[in-house]
Amino acid sequence: MADPDFPLSIASVRFSQSNFSRPLPDALSVDVEDYFHVEAFRDRITPESWPSYPSRVADNTRHVLDLFSRHGTRATFFVLGWVAERFPQIVREILAAGHEVGCHSYWHRCIWSLSPGEFRADTRRARAAIEDAGGQAVVGYRAPSFSVVERSLWAVEILAQEGFLYDSSVFPIHHDVYGMPHAPQSPFEWKCGEGRRLYEFPPTTVRLGPWNLPAAGGGYLRILPEWYTQWAFRKARREGRGLVLYFHPWEIDPHQPRLKGRARSTFRHYFHISRMEGRITKVLASSHFAPLLECLETMAGETRPISSGFAAPLAAASPVR
Ligand SMILES: [Zn+2]
Repeated sequence: MADPDFPLSIASVRFSQSNFSRPLPDALSVDVEDYFHVEAFRDRITPESWPSYPSRVADNTRHVLDLFSRHGTRATFFVLGWVAERFPQIVREILAAGHEVGCHSYWHRCIWSLSPGEFRADTRRARAAIEDAGGQAVVGYRAPSFSVVERSLWAVEILAQEGFLYDSSVFPIHHDVYGMPHAPQSPFEWKCGEGRRLYEFPPTTVRLGPWNLPAAGGGYLRILPEWYTQWAFRKARREGRGLVLYFHPWEIDPHQPRLKGRARSTFRHYFHISRMEGRITKVLASSHFAPLLECLETMAGETRPISSGFAAPLAAASPVR
């Protein structure tokens, strides 16, 4: 049921990719979080206990940066505010290597578990930590566990109110934790209150009969067979949709401490983790990827950048708060 203060629904989608003046380039993103932040172990590991776990996110993110540098790849790094506060140097290293930095919340809580007020406070705290670390405006958002779903659509309105330009948190599939199966597969624009707009980049899916199948990276890249991934990527491209892929630094770290959890959670987290770097390397070699904000600028075909904040000092950025 729509909240009267946040009347957004999927019917508010203004246009899909066909309304952009140019096709979508391939986009790559990295959700910068540690192995103990993930939803899979949420019921065993509380945020209060995070400092007691040996952190590997800085080294793993540097490993990702090296990998990208070898392939000339640039991407968007959605950083957890908690990570930015403890490892501000990592945010600076990401930016110095020519990548975009976005926001992945502060506490990695699913949005549907929060009130609108809690979500706004978490987002502001995260963005402030990331912008303080990097000195540049943050205009992109990725929800923990793609948790922008029908019952948390109010988050889209809040992101627009907070001055974000785009979101990449709506996964148009059926899933036990997330998903909005009726959302468009191609990038689209939310029509928000007071004329505000927010672009949405759904992770890559392919249509098979009545279903959308996921093919966007992360666990799907690790767990599903390679022939499936290649078929899905070819199909998405044939349909004129660029790829919107993601993965996590912990997914290329086979030596991370093993955590105990429910069988399904541990399967999703650890399965084929030792071969993920090889998979990612092949993906990087297969295309020329760009950060999401650059994809948005290309798609919109604007003569000037959509955000003066990207790669510009914070003081000169568009109003973000
Ligand atoms: Zn995450």
